[in-house]
Amino acid sequence: MKPVLSVRGLQKRFGAVVAADNVSIDIPAGQKLCLIGANGAGKTTFVNMVTGYMKPDSGAIELDGSPIGRRSPRDVARLGISRSFQIPQLFIELTAAENLTVAVSSAAGGRLSLTVAAEAGDRHDKALALLDRFGLKGHADRPVSELAGGVRKLVDIAMALARRPKLLLLDEPTSGVSAEEKFATMDRVINAVSEEAATIVFVEHDMDIVSKYADRVVAFYNGRILADGEPSTVLKDNEVRRYVTGGAK
Ligand code: ATP
Repeated sequence: MKPVLSVRGLQKRFGAVVAADNVSIDIPAGQKLCLIGANGAGKTTFVNMVTGYMKPDSGAIELDGSPIGRRSPRDVARLGISRSFQIPQLFIELTAAENLTVAVSSAAGGRLSLTVAAEAGDRHDKALALLDRFGLKGHADRPVSELAGGVRKLVDIAMALARRPKLLLLDEPTSGVSAEEKFATMDRVINAVSEEAATIVFVEHDMDIVSKYADRVVAFYNGRILADGEPSTVLKDNEVRRYVTGGAK
């Protein structure tokens, strides 16, 4: 099957640090791929390059066969790659529904003006439908500043999905989420994303989450791919146990 995302020979250095060392990955449609690796292994650098936030030194990135390696984050988003962040990027004084309305409005090519967005009732309806899909309708009218960490994460991910992306990259969707909320948060994310039939790449440190939700795992170490395959195989790999999971699972 033709990959949705094709990455070839990505290279990125920061001085003496090699953050991406000849990274190549093909991601087929509908896959739930998890990136694992110790702190500083290069996971966020990969996400940043694929989403246009960082330019690779060399290498190629293609979405559905179109090169995207030198495009801006905004252009990359328009072409069909959305992301969420380790720390949610929300308008914290606005309500959850207002945040989503801005995202829906922006995805529709509208101006980032709440007045315009609020006037467009169907955008507000779409915002509420997205919140509902993440089980967040009850939080719609609450300012983001009052929401718990796990709920903020979901609002951020719902915003990334507003554009109906072909590929969704989630940088640590469960970081900052309490142990009790983690699985519920991921259940909602995976259900909502599957409804959209989007392909998903997520960064995760919790191996229980990795085993439960990923159907493919790519392990990074010092900017290079250490192992790539099914979770059960990758998590048993000796080098992965040594350099990534520290023997866990
Ligand atoms: P974490 O799990 O801690 O988020 P990571 O696997 O996402 O780690 P990256 O953030 O991609 O790792 O970092 C890879 C390496 O590149 C690290 O050594 C980091 O210090 C370095 N690095 C990343 N971004 C920059 C930057 N903008 N300037 C300088 N060095 C950077």
